[in-house]
Amino acid sequence: MTTPAIPAPDLVVVDRLMKTFDVSPPLITRLATGAKPRMLKAVDGVSFRIAPGRTLSLVGESGCGKTTVARCVAGLQAPSGGTIAYRGVPIADIVAGKSPYRREIQMIFQDPYGSLNPRWRVGRIIADPIRALKLAASGAETDAAVARLLVAVGLSPADARKYPHEFSGGQRQRIAVARALASRPALIVCDEPTSALDVSVQAQILNLMRDLQDEFGLTYLFISHNLSVVDHMSSEVAVMYLGRIVETAHTADLFSAPKHPYTRLLLKAMPSLDQVGAVREPMQGEVPNPIDPPTGCAFHPRCPFAADRCRQERPDLRPLAGGTVACHRAEEIG
Ligand code: SF4
Repeated sequence: MTTPAIPAPDLVVVDRLMKTFDVSPPLITRLATGAKPRMLKAVDGVSFRIAPGRTLSLVGESGCGKTTVARCVAGLQAPSGGTIAYRGVPIADIVAGKSPYRREIQMIFQDPYGSLNPRWRVGRIIADPIRALKLAASGAETDAAVARLLVAVGLSPADARKYPHEFSGGQRQRIAVARALASRPALIVCDEPTSALDVSVQAQILNLMRDLQDEFGLTYLFISHNLSVVDHMSSEVAVMYLGRIVETAHTADLFSAPKHPYTRLLLKAMPSLDQVGAVREPMQGEVPNPIDPPTGCAFHPRCPFAADRCRQERPDLRPLAGGTVACHRAEEIG
């Protein structure tokens, strides 16, 4: 009799994450006009887990809070509430240097040019984390590591001598990936890493990232507004709307049987990575103002299935058919 495998503990556990921003007018204006303080709930009780070696994508329109979640998980922003744990250690402790895990969490940004120091040669950009973290014993070892990383991302060791402006957008994102890999991470938070690139280059970078995931055993938290990118990259998907998760599912299930009306809307508007210029349905309706969200289900002003209950009662995220969904009428619609 074989012993059943013990599942590996989750690498990342996010529990009821909240992030609120004070968007009040200046005090002097409030005193003069009697305006009240205004708070924007960018993230409102988001929970998820990511197992080692998996890719969870957070998807949703601009302003849904996905980038704020990413920045909190990467330790670049402090949550207003809830918890984030990496290997069981609170992210706040990791950021404060109380744990050695800081180097294991890296982030790749949307704009590869803006995230690379234009005055540094590529070799120095990639060597910087290796030197800062003392991951090589000598200058020669650092140079060798930089050369290996450049080759791993499809560039040449000779590119170490060039400056970022000498490269195309796709090549610059390869440099950003090499720099992220330099600290030997386990988790990479990817914030729309291909959305600034030409469609023809997007697939190359996504394929590279998948190959690197296999080669280095990486775990990704992947942020995108583009479901075709999500389909290409993810093992699991969480759909966000106005600061909350409205549906989670394994990627194949989400695409074959979406449960939430918002997910259906996103799928209808989905561009294809290999059908450049193809006509697609535009997204219908506008995202409501997060400072003053609708009552009940926040999606009800755009939802073709909205009923009275939807306007009054906010649906909780609940299990359904192997995933979760926050919709009062998911079974009927399905
Ligand atoms: S709860 Fe109601 S309004 Fe919200 S998505 Fe479901 S059917 Fe639409």
